[in-house]
Amino acid sequence: MSILIKNASIVLTQNSKREKLKNSCIYIEDNLISEISEKPVSTEVEYVIDARGMIVLPGLINLHTHVPMTLLRGYGDDMILEDWLNNRIWPVEAKLDKESISAGTKLGLLEMIRSGTTCFLDMYFFEDVIVEVTKEAGLRAFLGFSLLDFGTPEYRYEELFPACENFLKKWKNSDLIKPVVAPHATYTCSAETLQKSLDLAEKFDVLLHTHCSETRNEIYSVMEKTGLRPVDVLKKHGLLCERTILAHCGWITKNEVSEISRAGAKVAHCPVSNMKLATGGFAPLPEMLKENVAVGLGTDGAASNNTLDMFETMKFTALLHKHHRWDPCVLPAQTVLDLATISGARCLGIDDKIGSIEEGKTADIIIVNLRKPWLTPVHDPVSLLVYSARCSDVYATIVDGKILMLDNTFYTLDYNSTLREAQMQAYNLTKS
Ligand SMILES: [Zn+2]
Repeated sequence: MSILIKNASIVLTQNSKREKLKNSCIYIEDNLISEISEKPVSTEVEYVIDARGMIVLPGLINLHTHVPMTLLRGYGDDMILEDWLNNRIWPVEAKLDKESISAGTKLGLLEMIRSGTTCFLDMYFFEDVIVEVTKEAGLRAFLGFSLLDFGTPEYRYEELFPACENFLKKWKNSDLIKPVVAPHATYTCSAETLQKSLDLAEKFDVLLHTHCSETRNEIYSVMEKTGLRPVDVLKKHGLLCERTILAHCGWITKNEVSEISRAGAKVAHCPVSNMKLATGGFAPLPEMLKENVAVGLGTDGAASNNTLDMFETMKFTALLHKHHRWDPCVLPAQTVLDLATISGARCLGIDDKIGSIEEGKTADIIIVNLRKPWLTPVHDPVSLLVYSARCSDVYATIVDGKILMLDNTFYTLDYNSTLREAQMQAYNLTKS
């Protein structure tokens, strides 16, 4: 496939100089950005997208989610975390099957495509089903096979590790999909589970993804069980390392920031979910960035967000830290956009391929239509994207050189049947 994006009013390259190009063209051949120029290329192309009055930027990267939880969007809001988990989420999750996972995943992917997310890191159950649906939808994904001491809705504990190994073998060489080992958290994983997780990740040379220091209760319960804080538990068992992406880190100390930095571990910051569940902790993001920790942004699952909207997550990221520090200069818009693009790619170890718009890089690109009252005037396009844009302002979503959505037309998923099926599965799961 060849695509020409022409007349782009602004291209936010997110390259090392953070160059902003005006009135430019981007020529995509197969899956690569082959030319960026002021004049249209002369070769014939299959698709021409006129991006006059629009911003072209790298696709957004959602660094922590549980995609099928879209089925539980709005099911149990305004509840205490433990009550929410025990009485709402876990009873329903026990009823999950392949059909409901498939429907929830399709819904989540449709939402991501519509809202400009081109790559995500997931952690859930029935991950094989999530792989199949994601391949069909055409998104780039790192999909985490969840490991917990008490098993999952899909496997008993003794079945988990062989199943995880099969999962890694099966998808290791897949193109847009990368399998990930996902021990759920230090409060749900014993030393043995953590150790076996690390062994598998090393054997197959894949990423590790785990929840870490999300709530104060988690710190207390892990300390009671192990005598250590979650970060130290991970360190003790060798999981605080370059291949690990830690979700949350809302309750970590400055010392732990240094530990994470020294280990080269990465962090997925999820401000909307943290604020909605009132976890109370503030991820020390300015300190992490100062210590050169690679950080990306995540929505977390739609049950605790309640969307997969990365534009909203960017705005919350900026506002949360400014407000907390009494300092409007903290987390400027450009830094926040970096977190959602090139820094997310760095966390995943693929910043040489995606995260910026540069010749030779893979074409994961989105286009935002500026012809909206809330996106006018254009003083600073980065400010507009972080503080003013809404996810529905996305005009086109391109992944690996393929158009997944253009002007509200979806090319890989059927819009109406996805919504219908999700509604039906959500009703079946939650009816008593
Ligand atoms: Zn999570």
